[in-house]
Amino acid sequence: MAQYTLKPDTSFTRELQEAGGENLKRCYQCATCAVACPFAPANAPYPRKEMVWASWGLKDKLMRDADLWLCHNCGNCSDLCPRGARPADTMAAARNMIYKELTEPSIVGKWMSKASGLPFLFFIPAVLWLVVWAIRASYKGHWFPRAADGRIVFGEIFYGDYTIDPIFMITFFGACFILYRGVRKLWSMFKPEGELLVIGPKKSWLCHLVAVLMDEVVTHRKFDDCEDGPITGKGAANRKFGHMVLVYSFAILAFVTAVVAAGHWGGKIIPAIEIHTPMPLTFPVKILANIGALLMLCGLAALTWRRLAQDRANHASGFYDWYLLSIIWLVAVTGILSQCFRLTDALKPAFVTYYFHLVFVWMLFAYLPWSKLGHFVYRTAALVYVRMYGRS
Ligand code: SF4
Ligand code: SF4
Repeated sequence: MAQYTLKPDTSFTRELQEAGGENLKRCYQCATCAVACPFAPANAPYPRKEMVWASWGLKDKLMRDADLWLCHNCGNCSDLCPRGARPADTMAAARNMIYKELTEPSIVGKWMSKASGLPFLFFIPAVLWLVVWAIRASYKGHWFPRAADGRIVFGEIFYGDYTIDPIFMITFFGACFILYRGVRKLWSMFKPEGELLVIGPKKSWLCHLVAVLMDEVVTHRKFDDCEDGPITGKGAANRKFGHMVLVYSFAILAFVTAVVAAGHWGGKIIPAIEIHTPMPLTFPVKILANIGALLMLCGLAALTWRRLAQDRANHASGFYDWYLLSIIWLVAVTGILSQCFRLTDALKPAFVTYYFHLVFVWMLFAYLPWSKLGHFVYRTAALVYVRMYGRS
């Protein structure tokens, strides 16, 4: 008969408790949470089994558990847990710990997990953009130069072709590469020993990816399923609105960035499509950019309000949760303020605010693999994987 040796790792349990699952030891295995979860499949439901593994320190089991990623963090299980064990927070803490282990270099993940790491995270882009500023200022002979026609043009200091574009390209593709490696490791951890029998027609991972993106991003249908769970009487406002508005604002801003980049670089070859920056306020691409920025503020306000309104006894919000929200707030506010200062001809505040805007945008992209945005990528990859093997 095959034997399986359990390898408890008590330090893992302690780390999980520190990362947000501090009440996990309260669990007495009643299974209410597994019944309450609107997503848990009938065969091997969650999160009860994950609570056992977490409290026994079975790190290997949790690392290989694709179900951990099916959870949508709706919080129903925590609301109904009779022991206040907060299983939703334990599931989130386990996911955060796992994908930080997958993502190199791990030192960034450590900085990202507590407030004491924030100065390091800020210091790197602050110095980077200050060096860019200093080099251009020495070339221009002024820290706050105006364009030849007297306007405020940020490109006078933060010149797109040789600073902003290459720095953000390297940062973005570097983050994508780190995520790609992490996703490969995640899939290899899930891979069962031997051949897994898949019943029904097989589809490619690409078909499953499209289906996951439709459910999770385009329609946010899964967020409705969260609300279809049992009525707990304790739930905060629906996450769907804020989440959806924020995702769409990112999509609009990404589209605008792509159009401006195509107009700028493509315009060097085909002058008819050239786009000059700064764009006038009435230019369609600029209008779209400002709509995206306003939507971002709406989404942020809704998500921040929801987090503040959550029942603290059943849902914890740690540094990790606030980090991403705060960075996106800072990106949005500094972006809007720098535009306002530029339009009102406030020279020094415009450049200083734009400098901080670049610092925060860099923090958003460069640390993406360790932040909750990275979590979105890992979860999407896990959902694709489980669909490929018939579990969703
Ligand atoms: S986490 Fe709570 S609801 Fe779930 S099994 Fe443990 S005690 Fe029961
Ligand atoms: S947080 Fe929601 S989705 Fe996740 S395990 Fe609990 S009930 Fe299920």
